[in-house]
Amino acid sequence: MEPIRVAITGSSGRMGRALLEALAEAPDLRLHAALDRPGSPVLGRDAGELIGAPNGVSVTDDLAAALDGAQVLIDFTRPEGTLEHLRAATLRGVNLVIGTTGFTDAQRREIADAARTIAIVQAPNFSVGVNLALKLLDLAARVLSQGYDVEIVEAHHRHKVDAPSGTALRMGEVVAQALGRDLRECAVYGREGITGARPDKTIGFATVRGGDIVGEHTVIFAGIGERLEISHKASSRATFAQGALRAARFVAGRPAGLFDMQDVLGLR
Ligand code: NAD
Repeated sequence: MEPIRVAITGSSGRMGRALLEALAEAPDLRLHAALDRPGSPVLGRDAGELIGAPNGVSVTDDLAAALDGAQVLIDFTRPEGTLEHLRAATLRGVNLVIGTTGFTDAQRREIADAARTIAIVQAPNFSVGVNLALKLLDLAARVLSQGYDVEIVEAHHRHKVDAPSGTALRMGEVVAQALGRDLRECAVYGREGITGARPDKTIGFATVRGGDIVGEHTVIFAGIGERLEISHKASSRATFAQGALRAARFVAGRPAGLFDMQDVLGLR
C-alpha cells in the first residue's frame, strides 16, 4: 500500500520536531510537506535537518502548495494559525488532526462547522495514557459522586501560553458531565486571599509552570478519611506525536465528521 501523505504545520516547534521524528520512523506514512509560519527562520531549510536527518522536504509557508496532494494535515500551532490551516484544508478536502489548545468557544464552533465538510480529529492530548485516564475519571466521578471534592492540578514547561491546559479542562468536563454539572458554572480557576470555605460542587483548578515539564495532570477526589488521585505524567513529546500519527491513520480517507482520541483508540 502507498504510504499516507501527511503535511505538518509548526515544523520548527516542539511538537513539530517531535512529529518529524515520529514520521521518520513510520513506514506507512510519508512527509508530504512541512509548513511553518511566514517569517520563521527555518523556511527553505530541509525539514529533516531540524531533527538531524535530512529528508529532501523544504520547510515552506505556502499553504496551498503544501496541501496540494496531501491526505492529512497535522496541526500543533496556535489557535489563529490552526483556524487559517483549517480554512485552507476545508477548501481542498484535506482531513485534519488538530493538537493545538486554547481555542475560544467561537473558534471551536468554526472547527465543528468545518467537520461537516472534512474529517477532523481534535484532542487536547494525544497520549494513550491520558485518554485512558479520561475513562477512569468518568468511572471515579460516578462512584464518588457524593461527599468528594474534585480538584485538578496540572504542570507544564515555562513556555506554555495557555492555562489551565486543554487536557485539564477536558478532564474537568468529563468529571462535570459524569456528576451532572456544567463546568462553565462550577469551575474555580485559582484561589487567593480570604476565600471562605470551599463551596460544595465546585471543581478547582491549579496551574504550575516551570522548566521543561512536558505535561503532568492529577485529578484529586478528596473525601473524609480518604483521597483518590488519578495522575498522568508525560516524560516526552514522543507520546503525543505517536498518538497524532495514530489519529492521522484513522482520519485518512474518512468521510466528514468530528472525532477525538476516544474514537481513534476505540474507547467510546
Ligand atoms: P511551540 O511554540 O514550540 O511551536 C509552535 C509552532 O507553531 C512554531 O513552529 C510556530 O512557528 C508555529 N506557529 C505559531 N503561530 C503560528 C501561526 N499563527 N500560524 C502558523 N504557525 C504558527 O509550541 P508546542 O509546544 O509545539 O505546542 C503547539 C501547540 O500544541 C500548543 O497549543 C500546545 O498546547 C499544543 N500541544 C498539544 C498536545 C496534544 O497532545 N494535543 C501536546 C503538546 C502540545
